[in-house]
Amino acid sequence: MSDHDALDFDRRHIWHPYTSPTHPLPVYQVVSAEGVRLRLADGRELLDGMSSWWCAIHGYNHPVLNEALRQQTCRMAHVMFGGLTHPPAIELARRLVALTPGPLEKVFFCDSGSVAVEVAIKMAIQYWGAQQQSEKSRLLTIRHGYHGDTFAAMAVSDPVTGMHHRFAGLLAEHFFAEAPKSRSDAEWCDTDMVSFRNLFAECHQQIAAVILEPIVQGAGGMRFYAPEFLRQVRTLCNHYGVLLIADEIATGFGRTGRLFACEHAGISPDIMCLGKAITGGYLSFAATLTTEKVSRVIGRDGGVFMHGPTFMANPLACAVANASIDLLLQDDWQANICRIEAGLCRGLESCRELPGVADVRVMGAIGVVELTQEVELAAIQAQFVDRGVWIRPFGRLVYTMPPYIISDEEIAFLTQQMMAVVMGLAKGE
Ligand SMILES: *Cc1c(COP(=O)(O)O)cnc(C)c1O
Repeated sequence: MSDHDALDFDRRHIWHPYTSPTHPLPVYQVVSAEGVRLRLADGRELLDGMSSWWCAIHGYNHPVLNEALRQQTCRMAHVMFGGLTHPPAIELARRLVALTPGPLEKVFFCDSGSVAVEVAIKMAIQYWGAQQQSEKSRLLTIRHGYHGDTFAAMAVSDPVTGMHHRFAGLLAEHFFAEAPKSRSDAEWCDTDMVSFRNLFAECHQQIAAVILEPIVQGAGGMRFYAPEFLRQVRTLCNHYGVLLIADEIATGFGRTGRLFACEHAGISPDIMCLGKAITGGYLSFAATLTTEKVSRVIGRDGGVFMHGPTFMANPLACAVANASIDLLLQDDWQANICRIEAGLCRGLESCRELPGVADVRVMGAIGVVELTQEVELAAIQAQFVDRGVWIRPFGRLVYTMPPYIISDEEIAFLTQQMMAVVMGLAKGE
């Protein structure tokens, strides 16, 4: 099949994320990927600025990850987790319990980030149910969040930029406080707490848990907020006896400069969701961790936690996750993220002066150029591809979350292309 025929078939028969089934935007065919580069069917190479939606932290086709997968494939690709267990799952749980904040000791393995969020919400609801407080069944969150595409996850994602209007009447109704305006790099302003504090005071009897993305709100707007907000949220949760769910699916495994973003605030949640980078971008996999206390309450009077996916704790995914985590920790990963942060700051700083740019912000290995207007995706995507980089903007955001193996020269190239495209937008190109 020629590249043209393949793309034509794709266009007629295959769904892509968030696209029209009848008028899909163009897609590019990738035939292989190596290190920080994607190779297209037409032979062009693109420098990857996305880590495949923030997962491929070690780049592509990594020999160590390949080998871990190969070895595990020869032992067993999969085995059910009901009534059985296996070394890759045990080793991964050991690592996750050791790496995450102290009280998180119980690990539930699941298939994707959205499912990890569903599991977290079910844990919180079962926790209150087991204490005969089933009126505590709603969630409190902040605007601009993103927690996934399944129903419970959509219901706690931002009501405006999320999908609430399309599924009106079908989503559970939760409480949304204003997101903090204080930025991670600026002075804390206590008025940021008002909306959250008031809602909490008013509704805490109905609230099972607070759910939010710590420090960095990802797909809901790439916003970075002050750690003080998170600290005060933790204090309020303690005060009202409400659980705190930290969705670290985007932020986990070093992306923000800390292993987990909760560490910026020095707090520990009652439930934590991990996903995306957990397998280094190799397989769909996630985990929900909770405390001894939460699990003890759920298990009270013979209670069982009601979730158990077919592919729970898939051995291939666990094996590659173990290898990915070891790979991350074997070097001075924190110094490396600092290096990327410095490179992104250097490269993106001059975008600040460009017309049409509302803001430039960098945290860890995340660089964001926020525009004053939404971009036209197909056109801007084509420009990036022509320039030899893979950057996929959304809304008003042109951003990068590159693989951690990206070199300084590559960061400079990537950010130059971002700057050039943004400059072109202002000129109406
Ligand atoms: C991506 C993401 C999810 C959903 O994960 P999927 O694997 O796409 O289901 C949930 N929460 C956050 C913060 C995410 O970034």
